[in-house]
Amino acid sequence: MKKFYLTTTLPYVNAAPHMGHALEFVAADIIARYHRDIRGEEVFMNTGTDEHGQKVWKSAKDQGREIREYVDENSLKFKELLKDLGVMGDINFIRTTDENHIKAAQDFWKIVEKNGYIEKKSYKVKYCVGCELEKTDSELVDGVCPIHPNLKIEKLDEENYFFKFSSFQKKLLELYEKEDFVVPTSRLGEIRNFVSAGLHDFSISRLKEKFSWGVPVPGDSGQVMYVWFDALINYISALGWPDNKKKFEGFWGTAAAPNAIQIAGKDNLRQQAAMWQAMLMAAGLPVSKQIIIHGFITSGGIKMSKTVGNVIDPLGFIKKYGSEALRAWLAKDANTFEDSDLTPEKFEKSYNANLVNGLGNLTSRIIKMAAEADLALGEDEIESSIEGDADRSAYMGYLDAYEIQKAAELVWSRMAQADAYIDERAPFRVIKLDLKQGKFQIRELLRNLAVIAYFLIPILPQTSAKIMAAIKNPSRKPEPLFPRVLS
Ligand SMILES: [Zn+2]
Repeated sequence: MKKFYLTTTLPYVNAAPHMGHALEFVAADIIARYHRDIRGEEVFMNTGTDEHGQKVWKSAKDQGREIREYVDENSLKFKELLKDLGVMGDINFIRTTDENHIKAAQDFWKIVEKNGYIEKKSYKVKYCVGCELEKTDSELVDGVCPIHPNLKIEKLDEENYFFKFSSFQKKLLELYEKEDFVVPTSRLGEIRNFVSAGLHDFSISRLKEKFSWGVPVPGDSGQVMYVWFDALINYISALGWPDNKKKFEGFWGTAAAPNAIQIAGKDNLRQQAAMWQAMLMAAGLPVSKQIIIHGFITSGGIKMSKTVGNVIDPLGFIKKYGSEALRAWLAKDANTFEDSDLTPEKFEKSYNANLVNGLGNLTSRIIKMAAEADLALGEDEIESSIEGDADRSAYMGYLDAYEIQKAAELVWSRMAQADAYIDERAPFRVIKLDLKQGKFQIRELLRNLAVIAYFLIPILPQTSAKIMAAIKNPSRKPEPLFPRVLS
């Protein structure tokens, strides 16, 4: 069985989950379900929480919390969000504070050090704790980070270990010759420009006396690992690397056939497509196969942030409309690769049009006609409808290219076609005049609905299952799929 590996980035546990996390989790779940349920592959989906680093340590301290308790509590919120979003139950949830991850991060360090890509030198730099990134003067506006204007830029001056990132410019540029290494290609151009401009070695440790909430550097008790050099390794420690070679090679792939797909937000392009790939090269491990970059969810045209006060909590939408409604919005209304704007008004409008009056109404019309005509589809007929469907290869082509929105639009265009078929031919009237012709038309609609339900398996898994059940047994009057919600 072909193996498919997909990982999200790991959210920091310094705050509760927001809609951006929901977007990444649902996109990953749709892709993973597609490979598992449509392509029939063995899927390993990884997600989890990034729990070390100065930012997490500082927010715990600011709130007067004990660090371990603080990260436990916040990590759980992400785990619960996955469940609330209806993400597949058998995913891997890794925490960077897990024992086996810590050991893997240290093993990784030792290999990279042995290969000659780690050196100790003095470190003088300006640093934004919000980004957990070094900043040059040209990246600062009035002396602060433009993304985190409320945080003070820290000035570091200490002896640290460095990763020789600059040694990998040529190899990274070679990697980017593969046109779909980063999806969409505009992001590949962006990372190519960044690497072409020249790479600077980056610091991968901090003095333990300043903050100790990190993985100890092997062989140097005075230093802890810098957050990225610890966190990024989760993508392979999740697979049991370095101990479980078979599992690692099966899912992560080999140098000749890389197999790992990573999904990340556009603010993570540099870390995933350059830093992490160079780290893999330095450790002599296979690079990733592809990096998928999604946009942000904005609200009222502005990036959500605690400072602006426009953070939208995904749980509010799930409580009011249900997880499948939120999944539908994230798949169909949100742009797969660019920013998307979400407001409660836009969501309600979309819910009513696409789900209540769209999918819900179409399903109930067809099932009602089938029940009255005493028609149902068996497993064989459902399968033959799906196999022979003209849109199937286009649908699979979209999802093979991670074009979630295009796949969703294709499914909704099928709903519109079925609605038009009912309006034009009025099978409920035809059946009274010509039984055979009426039954033929209703059967056609059932076959179409089966294809729609099949296409919805990765996107709206619960709704898809309910529709399939109704197609097999229309006389058992189903509950409305999407009830009207009073605003
Ligand atoms: Zn910043």
